[in-house]
Amino acid sequence: MIAMFAAGCLQAAGSEKLTIVFDFQGPHSSRSISEMQQEVAGILKDSGLTLKWRALERTDGATDAGDNENLVVVRFNGRCILEPNPVLYDERGPLAFTHTSDGAVLPFSEVACDQVTASMRSAMFGGDYAQGEQLLGRALGRVVAHELVHILTNSHDHGREGVAKSALSGSQLITPRLPLSSSDLERLRAEHHR
Ligand SMILES: [Zn+2]
Repeated sequence: MIAMFAAGCLQAAGSEKLTIVFDFQGPHSSRSISEMQQEVAGILKDSGLTLKWRALERTDGATDAGDNENLVVVRFNGRCILEPNPVLYDERGPLAFTHTSDGAVLPFSEVACDQVTASMRSAMFGGDYAQGEQLLGRALGRVVAHELVHILTNSHDHGREGVAKSALSGSQLITPRLPLSSSDLERLRAEHHR
């Protein structure tokens, strides 16, 4: 499974562009997806990277990398929607993880949508449900940005604050603003401009 993404391995820094290929395995909302893209762009706005997004094309069964295109694949497992009457779900467990091989971080992350929705629900109150799709997109964006920091810095390290912390609470997933801390931004830029 991992081998098919080998072609998309991040090349040495130098390229300014990063394409995020997304793949939803279950139900999802286009409103949440566009919100997620905005959130990731906002978090990484000072990183020097230009982000592009595209859905995984299943026609040829492979992810084709264009010339000099840095690809990251993000797979969203489970149900990426806020259901009106959710099945109670154990909210413990990782929100997402990124594959590794021999200690190297691979450009392939998986997001556990059921964990993300369960976690954010724990912090949602009445009025929040009216903007549920937007909040879900925000939460997904933060989770994706967190994994991108691992990939872009080829590191398992976590920040002490901000979106790269080792754990994000439900309220940190949906609070209006959760930026990258300045030390994490520096880490990212140092890697990127090396
Ligand atoms: Zn992490």
